Amino acid sequence: MASNYSQPEPANEEPIRQLLRHHGLRYSRPREAILELFREGHSHIGAEEVQQALREKGEDVSLSTVYLNLGVLREAGVITEFRGANGQALYDHNVTPHLHIVCKRTGRIIDVPNIEIDGKPLDRFLKERVEEDTGWIVEEARLELAGTSPEGLAGEAARPQGETEGRAGSE
Ligand SMILES: [Zn+2]
Repeated sequence: MASNYSQPEPANEEPIRQLLRHHGLRYSRPREAILELFREGHSHIGAEEVQQALREKGEDVSLSTVYLNLGVLREAGVITEFRGANGQALYDHNVTPHLHIVCKRTGRIIDVPNIEIDGKPLDRFLKERVEEDTGWIVEEARLELAGTSPEGLAGEAARPQGETEGRAGSE
């Protein structure tokens, strides 16, 4: 029984200016503001949500500036990009390989705690097992889990009977 269940590594918490320098990037206020946002827990979001969250904090940054800086941060390896359920680009400041679970009701995405089988991270275990069984070379393992978050469940319980799913918004 070698299943291990631990929390993901905490994100790199070195000062943002230092973090940028380590990745060969020059400091700019938009870069800092975006990274602060991620550190506050706004991870797994798209460029428009980043801009919206910055606006709410009083940071007036144009969408093109947000896109530009997300691209720069991604290329430097400070953040990663992945595809959401609808194929949209989402950004994540956890750059270590990890799995996501997405709530089908609220759309919220969180990191799945690291899971090891036989002392290997799940993706490596899968890769090796599949290669052994099929003779194929596995170059990437992309896995996403979907389900219902506690918030989604609570919303479900609170909803009066007979009312239909309201995610698309009120028309
Ligand atoms: Zn993540």
